Amino acid sequence: MKVDFYTSKREYAEKQAEIDKAILEVARGGKFILGPEVTKLEEEVKKYTGAKHAIGVASGTDALVLTSHVLGFEDGAEVITSPFTFLASTSCIAKHRAKPVFVDIDEKTFNIDANKIEEKITDKTKGILPIHLFSQMADMDKIMEIANKHDLRVLEDAAEAFGMKYKGKGDTYRHSGSIGDFGIFSFFPTKTLGAYGDAGMVITNDDDLAKKAKMFRVHGASRKYHYDYIGYNSRLDTMQAAVLLVKLKYIDEAIAKRAQVAKWYKERLEDCRNIRIPEIVEDQKQVYYVFNILAEKRDELAAYLKENGVGNSIYYPVPLHLQKCFSYLGHKKGDFPVAEKVANEIIALPIYPEIKEEEVDYVCETIKKFYTK
Ligand SMILES: *Cc1c(COP(=O)(O)O)cnc(C)c1O
Repeated sequence: MKVDFYTSKREYAEKQAEIDKAILEVARGGKFILGPEVTKLEEEVKKYTGAKHAIGVASGTDALVLTSHVLGFEDGAEVITSPFTFLASTSCIAKHRAKPVFVDIDEKTFNIDANKIEEKITDKTKGILPIHLFSQMADMDKIMEIANKHDLRVLEDAAEAFGMKYKGKGDTYRHSGSIGDFGIFSFFPTKTLGAYGDAGMVITNDDDLAKKAKMFRVHGASRKYHYDYIGYNSRLDTMQAAVLLVKLKYIDEAIAKRAQVAKWYKERLEDCRNIRIPEIVEDQKQVYYVFNILAEKRDELAAYLKENGVGNSIYYPVPLHLQKCFSYLGHKKGDFPVAEKVANEIIALPIYPEIKEEEVDYVCETIKKFYTK
């Protein structure tokens, strides 16, 4: 059997008529740049997340760079973040010469260890950039408490966190990205809400920040050909917006199917002593963007799975403090031991709404066979 790590083909086969129609309508309408579908998608994302403003941009990476810029993560300002994430969560800090200040991750959630943030705060600290990774959100209550106490800006990298919700002190769940000053989503094709190309979104509840983000995506223009800032050309493509509008209609169903797949994995792998399944902490609505396990002999397992037709992926093999591009920060092995340990053990298994139970069976049997062979 062959099990793809990810495929968009099954979803397209299921929804082809609707998706084709949406794309053709954009072609016929001819409004390719910031067309009506982009505005509609922004409205729908506002409704879904409860955020006051949503601004469509070209990618999650651009959303991070643009919002970092608006928040003043520049010129020696320090921004506290986690080293266990995708490059874009940290490169956006460095892009305008702010300094990424890493804090190790929590052993259970793999998100930033909020208890270790305060000790890194200096008079140069400008912000905190938590990443809601894999399936659950960072400890936002604690992070916002620290940010308020020290007057810091919070940029939530919710690239992987569409649909994740966090329970605060009240009894309403708050959507990822809507708690800090800014939140960003990526609609990279593999993500929970994925486009058919690159796309991203910025959300905020602050009118002034929203206004600036909107200007920054069109070269910093307050009106056409009048530039208040030196901004970017970063707009969410109208055709991508049309595809995303179709997919957004089914997002709760897609999230529920992912939860079902995660449950299948947990049931089948529970008795496998060579692996550990990461814990989900309480008081939030998780979304299984990926299904990770921590595995003994991880690299050999990855190779064995591949040989046997099972797609897999390692997020992330090298934490950012050990990447060549950040060598100027002067970190060494051992600086963030939890991140380094997890990076050596973690492996992601195939998960998408259309995966079949017998495919999950096969993945789990193959894992068990590896450890008993
Ligand atoms: C995917 C991802 C991004 C980047 O999003 P793109 O749309 O690919 O630019 C940023 N941060 C994290 C944590 C991601 O997983």
